[in-house]
Amino acid sequence: MNASQSSPQQEGGVAAEKLIDAFGRVHTDLRVSVTDRCNIRCRYCMPLDVTFKPREELLSFEEIERVVAVAAELGVRSIRLTGGEPLVRRDLHRLIERLLAVAGIDEVALTSNGLLLKQQAADLAAAGLSRINVSLDSLREETFRELARSDGLSQVLAGLAEAKRVGLNQIRLNAVSIRGLTEQDIVPLARFAREQGFHLRFIEFMPLDADQRWSQPQVLSGSDVRAVLEEAVGPLQPVAGNDPGQPAVDYRYADMPADTAGSLVGFIDPVTQPFCQRCDRLRLTADGQFRNCLFSTEEWDARQLLRDGCEDRALAELMQACVKAKREAHGIGTPSFTRPGRAMYEIGG
Ligand code: SAM
Ligand code: SF4
Repeated sequence: MNASQSSPQQEGGVAAEKLIDAFGRVHTDLRVSVTDRCNIRCRYCMPLDVTFKPREELLSFEEIERVVAVAAELGVRSIRLTGGEPLVRRDLHRLIERLLAVAGIDEVALTSNGLLLKQQAADLAAAGLSRINVSLDSLREETFRELARSDGLSQVLAGLAEAKRVGLNQIRLNAVSIRGLTEQDIVPLARFAREQGFHLRFIEFMPLDADQRWSQPQVLSGSDVRAVLEEAVGPLQPVAGNDPGQPAVDYRYADMPADTAGSLVGFIDPVTQPFCQRCDRLRLTADGQFRNCLFSTEEWDARQLLRDGCEDRALAELMQACVKAKREAHGIGTPSFTRPGRAMYEIGG
């Protein structure tokens, strides 16, 4: 799809109009996927037998930096790098350094499966990484293997320990909850996160698995997980002033002092409690396509523009067109819901 014919005001050569959609949502957060490749094959994300994009189809670091610079002029302040597995992209810490040097960018965060974190944590910290989310669904080897279709639990745990050691102190754990698979993991994960000082977030299983096996009954809701925690770990209190831009709703263990690491546990409930009305995110896939939602069925082609030698203004208009076309809500569970043509690893979670 091409940029719309909108003619935003000019300021310094780039469209000055912010990224505001038809429902008044202001977009300040850009999720950048740096690769579709991964070193494991989570069943809720990738197919086992996967064909990755040829490298030349992925945006280079220079191209990503250019998109981020234009996005920053349109009000984007926060970048999260994701994938696929971002740490399989060589020299990722160099990209973090470059993006942090872009005027207007306040923070660069990362979502990783943690398998390569032990080797890279020191470089990531030195590059200025602000926050890291590490995906960890189970502390049981057999469930880890069942979900990831690979070994790797001990590597993730070693990566977490190293991340702490080098001072990456804003570490969150992301755990996908799937009914019939992860119920037994709720309490051990919560105890581990409390002891280790990690902020744990449970994420509902979304219809973005490449195998298309998702079904509503498999969704283990955040409220069900919370009930298990209250019963087995301790009472939870809602956190006042949850960040409206965050999809998670955070709670605090009542038996832990407020500012103790590990005292928070959050729930990202896109299926049972959609947070579309406060969504401030725009996404860029590894192959250079803008998306206005995980569940978007359309994409806006930045790679073509970049490789045709476009001016910054054209990139800005493309982003604005993408944001303007954002639907009010993803519509999971409604008759009009359509699964996107690409799975999570191709979009960037
Ligand atoms: N490879 C990295 C990782 O696993 O953290 C980054 C990319 S991964 C696509 C980003 C996040 O999406 C992970 O926390 C993962 O657990 C989550 N995810 C993947 N597929 C999902 C699905 N179908 N439903 C809910 N979350 C999913
Ligand atoms: Fe890889 Fe992350 Fe997808 Fe798992 S969720 S297959 S780690 S990209």
